[in-house]
Amino acid sequence: MTPALLRRLIVAVSDDVIAHADELTALDQAVGDGDHGVNMKRGFEAVRADAAATAEKPLAEALKAIGTQLVMKVGGASGPLYGTLFLALSKEIAPDGSNLPTAFGNAVEAVKARGKSQPGQKTMLDVLTPVQTALAEGGADLPARLPIVAATAAEATIPMLATRGRASFLGERSIGHMDPGARSSALMVASVCRALEG
Ligand code: ADP
Ligand code: MG
Repeated sequence: MTPALLRRLIVAVSDDVIAHADELTALDQAVGDGDHGVNMKRGFEAVRADAAATAEKPLAEALKAIGTQLVMKVGGASGPLYGTLFLALSKEIAPDGSNLPTAFGNAVEAVKARGKSQPGQKTMLDVLTPVQTALAEGGADLPARLPIVAATAAEATIPMLATRGRASFLGERSIGHMDPGARSSALMVASVCRALEG
């Protein structure tokens, strides 16, 4: 992991989240309060602004910096949860990132603890968990496979009944819409994979 590659990854994820803010907002208008796009855009504009400085740090420190910014800037339910994901990753990740599957697994556990949530409740965990499973399976085709796993998992939240977060207030009416956090998670996974391949 060179500073140049890390910077490319940070910029790619930030740009994709910012570019999809309207889509995330529209999804959150259907099942929440319509702020997920604005929340994520605000957070990743801050992350992007610091990309060069963050990329010079060791990987763990960089992840910590990103997690801290997400906690401070995103807000809503998703800010602390994405913040937890990056902060937990920063605690475990090896300097060369080689233990990513294990570190990501523990970070997903930290999100579950923070959100008091589990997969199957129509949240970001319905994408993060299958992504973690695919990471653990490994394989040379991971950068091609992971975005498909993530996108399929986000689609699979459409028929789910929300039992966590604001969408749960809708009860049965949450059925038939993709979860906004599942979509933003899939988006970020796809950005990282694309930037790694390119
Ligand atoms: P808010 O719901 O506070 O308006 P956002 O709109 O930014 O915050 O984020 C909503 C997303 O956060 C949801 O789509 C869902 O994926 C995720 N989320 C909310 N609560 C939880 C939870 N307890 N566990 C996991 N994810 C959650
Ligand atoms: Mg919201």
